[in-house]
This record gives sequence, C-alpha cells and structure tokens, in this order.
Amino acid sequence: MATAIPLRFMASPLRDRRARALTDLRISVIDRCNFRCPYCMPEEDYPRDHEFLSKDQRLRFEEIARLATVFAGLGVRKLRLTGGEPLLRRDLPELVRQLAGVPGIDDIAMTSNGSLLPRHAEALRKAGLDRITLSIDALDAQVYRRLSGGRGEVGDVLAAIDAAGTAGFGPLKLNCVVMRGINDGEVEPLVERFRGSGHVLRFIEYMDVGTCNDWRGDLVVPSTELRERIARRWPLQPLARAHGSDVAERWRFVEGGGEIGFISSVSEPFCGDCSRARLSADGRLYTCLFARQGHDLRGPLRAGAGDAELAAIIAAVWRARDDRYSELRGAAVRGARSRVEMYEIGG
Ligand code: SAM
Ligand code: SF4
Ligand code: SF4
Repeated sequence: MATAIPLRFMASPLRDRRARALTDLRISVIDRCNFRCPYCMPEEDYPRDHEFLSKDQRLRFEEIARLATVFAGLGVRKLRLTGGEPLLRRDLPELVRQLAGVPGIDDIAMTSNGSLLPRHAEALRKAGLDRITLSIDALDAQVYRRLSGGRGEVGDVLAAIDAAGTAGFGPLKLNCVVMRGINDGEVEPLVERFRGSGHVLRFIEYMDVGTCNDWRGDLVVPSTELRERIARRWPLQPLARAHGSDVAERWRFVEGGGEIGFISSVSEPFCGDCSRARLSADGRLYTCLFARQGHDLRGPLRAGAGDAELAAIIAAVWRARDDRYSELRGAAVRGARSRVEMYEIGG
C-alpha cells in the first residue's frame, strides 16, 4: 500500500470551523440497493417517484480515483466504499485496484450487506481492499428477513462472513442497527454467536437519517441500556478508542472472547471528532450524514478542472464546515424534510 505523502495542496493541514481535520472519505458507488431495510430505504415509504441515478450520472471509476487523489492531497488517508449496496456496482474490484494506487491512501474498506460478497470476495482482496464491514441485524431468519425488507436471507450474510475469511480478509466488523421491539431480542444471540470469533460486532443506535424511515425516538435503544444487558451475561470492560476519530466505543469481554462496539450517535454524539467527508455516487460532496445538500464536484471535474482547482473547491467547502447535527438534534434541526438519504451517501 502507498506510503503517506505530505499534504500536496496545503501549506498547513486542512481544518473546518471546529478545527476538525479531513482524514476519511466515504465513497458511495451506487444509490441502488437489493434490500429495503426499514431504517434506511423502507419499501412502503421511500419516495415512489425516486429516480435512481443513471450510468452517465454516476461518477466513472477514473473520476472517483481522480477525486480520491485530490482528497488524499488534502489529508485523507482512509477510504470506505459504500452505497446503496456497493456490490451492485459492476466491476467494483477494478475501482479498488485504481484506489489502491492512490498515493497517500493507507486503508481501503467497504461496507456491504454481504448478499453478493461470496462471488466477489477474492477479486476484491486481490485488487487491494483492506477491510470489510458487513451488516447483520439478526440471526433469526424471520427477523433478518424483515430487517432487509423481505429481500435478504441470514444464511447469505453468514456465508459472506466465511467467504471473506477464505479470501484472506482479517476479522470483520459486523454492524447491527437495533430497533426496539423489532430486533432488540437478537442482541444476545448475536453476541453469543460472534464472541470468540475474532469478528467485532457493533451495535448501532437507530438514527434519524434521511426523510423516509419515519424515525421515532422510542425505537432507539440507547447503548448504555444494551451494554448493561450484555454485561449482565458477559462482563465487559472499556477499551480505549483505536483512533481519535473512531465512532465506536470499544468494550472487551472480561472473560475472554474479544471485543464489541457501540455506536451511540443519538445518545452520545461524536461530532467533535468527525473527520469524515462523503461523496455521493453522482459526485456531490457532503460534510455531514444529515446534510440538506451536497456540493457538486462532478460538474467542475467534467468541465476540465485541474487537480489544484478541485482541491481549492473541496478545501473551501471543508473550511466552511460547521456541521454538528447529532449534538444539536432536536425539533429545530429535525424539522427539515429535505435531507440526503442514507442510501445516497452510505452511512
Ligand atoms: N448497503 C450496505 C450495508 O447495508 O451495509 C452499505 C450502505 S448502508 C447505508 C451503511 C450502514 O448504514 C449499514 O451498516 C446500515 O445498517 C447503516 N444504517 C442505515 N440506515 C441507518 C439508520 N437509520 N440508523 C443507523 N444506521 C443505519
Ligand atoms: Fe440497502 Fe444498506 Fe440501506 Fe439496507 S442499509 S437498504 S442494505 S443501503
Ligand atoms: Fe459527523 Fe454530522 Fe454525524 Fe456529527 S452528525 S458525527 S458532524 S456526520
């Protein structure tokens, strides 16, 4: 993997208005998904007239790699491919191959629902993908199916976990979004299944992202409640965060079996350390998961802007950034119904 390079476009590190550096870029490669998770893209509620991006509207791989190079020049070191479902994007390993050659990038990860992973895992690994996060919201077949909007089978994501191992990926992160009364009964079975496996299960508080999931606060299970429940059966001890910008609180099983994580974006917001930018599949730059609008990078890119010009546009957006939605969360900021959807920028 390429080694770190000096910030090519900046005399000093790029910081936003809250002194947060730009170190991580999440790249949505497609806005389509083969699942309809109720917390993200519910079948009955996501806008009926929603038009998914056409091939021409989506950034081509060369365009994504070009932008990644510019972001790396501004300080980005970690990339995460996401969606929609990233594995619906044809030839994804080719994009990984191009990104693996970007100077300055030292980690390329992907978040996926896993349903299509077995047939792509080896090619992704060979292309240079470093890490995979898979979403698994239940072990029970019926609950899992419900959480995928009737489209996924838990057996497929379990097969994906095995396929990742066979392809040479190390331990995975496994994401579970917990909704009260829907899959909170799955928490202990999931812990039991993955404790000692090397994989790190992370419980995510159900967030009020987008406009179509009909979010209600009473459906959120606060991490403290979950942690106390889990610790009654498997005592837990806190661990330090691996990196300052990590979103998960880490806890280890006192009696052995590795660690688990909690992502508490509702009950304990972490905006103060948020170093992530998000690029939508059509090349818009978002500075927050709850942003109302993105900044078009595809236009200037296709109009022939040079790297320095693109860097100046991105740097200006980041310098003006003041987002801290989760810290402010409340009626005033929640009122807006024009927020970007999770399946457009990928979490
Ligand atoms: N389709 C892929 C997947 O599901 O892993 C990648 C995109 S998905 C938007 C990325 C992550 O966002 C998933 O782990 C998903 O569970 C999480 N997510 C989606 N909607 C959410 C919500 N309302 N609250 C919390 N997490 C959410
Ligand atoms: Fe698709 Fe992922 Fe959203 Fe579920 S969370 S609908 S798998 S993009
Ligand atoms: Fe970052 Fe926005 Fe989430 Fe805060 S609410 S942690 S600024 S993405």
